[in-house]
Amino acid sequence: MGGPPGPRAQARVRRARPALRGGRPSDGRRGVTTVHDTRLSGGRVFLHGSGLADVDLLIKDGLVSGIVSRDSDAEAREVVQLDGKLVLPGAIDPHVHLGKDIRVPKDPDDARLETASAAAGGITSMLVYLMSGEPYDTVVPGAQAVMEQDSYVDFGFHIVVGSDAHVHDIPAYIREFGISSFKFFMNFKGDEGKYLGLPGNDDGYMYDVLGTAADNGAMINPHPENIELVWKLKNRPIDESRGPLSAWNQSRPSFVEAEAVQRVAYMAQITGASVYAVHTSSQLALEAMQRQRRSYENLFVETCTQYLTLTTGADCGTYGKVNPPIRERADLESLWIGMADGSVDTVGSDHNARHRVNKEKDIWTASAGFPGTGGVLPLTLSEGLRRGVPLERLVDATSTRSAKLFGMYPQKGTIRVGSDADIAVVDLDSSYVINAATQHSGAEYTPWEGTEVPLSVVHTLVRGQFALRDGQLAQETTGRFLRRERSGAAALAAAEHEGEPS
Ligand SMILES: [Zn+2]
Repeated sequence: MGGPPGPRAQARVRRARPALRGGRPSDGRRGVTTVHDTRLSGGRVFLHGSGLADVDLLIKDGLVSGIVSRDSDAEAREVVQLDGKLVLPGAIDPHVHLGKDIRVPKDPDDARLETASAAAGGITSMLVYLMSGEPYDTVVPGAQAVMEQDSYVDFGFHIVVGSDAHVHDIPAYIREFGISSFKFFMNFKGDEGKYLGLPGNDDGYMYDVLGTAADNGAMINPHPENIELVWKLKNRPIDESRGPLSAWNQSRPSFVEAEAVQRVAYMAQITGASVYAVHTSSQLALEAMQRQRRSYENLFVETCTQYLTLTTGADCGTYGKVNPPIRERADLESLWIGMADGSVDTVGSDHNARHRVNKEKDIWTASAGFPGTGGVLPLTLSEGLRRGVPLERLVDATSTRSAKLFGMYPQKGTIRVGSDADIAVVDLDSSYVINAATQHSGAEYTPWEGTEVPLSVVHTLVRGQFALRDGQLAQETTGRFLRRERSGAAALAAAEHEGEPS
């Protein structure tokens, strides 16, 4: 005995006695029998409110059509034996960038390779940021068409607003495209946004963006960085002896992030907006959000897998350059405390398929960002279980909470009768080593190269279809566009109305 319990023991949460529903083999009339498409048999199924349950899942027409006892005689055209593996709601990556220019997916590879990475890691839905200086009227349909051709997973979009015209069009984007979450870059002062074709903004612009979102049931996902402090600190001497990631962290210290996040959170309260702090990387930024949350509840926190698993001491070199930077051990530990107590709502990847030729440079000239969607579920789940974070909270952070905050619940983010059959099947008894090949991304590297993960994703089902089966990707892709009419507080209120399965 002694030492922390392994993932397997930790995952053995309360033995559930779930209400078994659906999947009756007969409707009572003679000769009329429902034949389901698929039966996932012998798994331990995560059910909200009751934890892991020894039940079988039935799937028909892409939906969960029954949750039945293992001795039920419900019929299915195919029975898949799971031998005690975990059956979780498919993970949702709320933070992805696609496209060679990081703005918009354009080529078939942008969708196919990067969503393959996601599906191989148990992701069944992703939310992709679209960035353009132009109106989005043609940008959205173009991106949607590219994704629908080649996406393994379901997908929605966030829109980056940078001009007054964009803010004016927020109600139309919600109405026409079902896009209800909007990012803006607090650091785009002066010419800082020029590379994306976006004009400079200020706190008056932020006030307009937040007010418009509040009036329309939308949420704002600000990039929080005080660029004036970054400019000021630029010429400060940096100690490069502690490695490239430490140097990058010194150049953009965490108070730069924390100051910006507390400012936008304060303005959220003034305007009544919902604000979702993307890629929270530091103890200071998390504490700033916690302080603001004491007086105003519609504030939400995302972190990313890299801030939960990497520190400036990691040996991935410039592959690990990202904004905000990889931080110190104390930051990582405080984010895990936030994961456990729920003050961190969600985990995303900030996936960005920058090719390795742009990364194999010194820390000052390498591009920022790296691919990570494939690691969100395996890394968060394995590290979280090792640390004793309850499975319920890990499922919430990697799936349910994103579904609720971004207007996808209960279609997504839960296993219940009538929900999309989006499923990740995880084997706690097998391990794998992360490398560029396991990640499938066009970027051709991963900052987690060589990391051994003590579990593996075996199957990923998107609306009942295997995107990944026995660890192998399907040939066909089936991802569809997700309309999301509301986000933030408005979406949470609607999710509440749906209640939990009885
Ligand atoms: Zn991002």
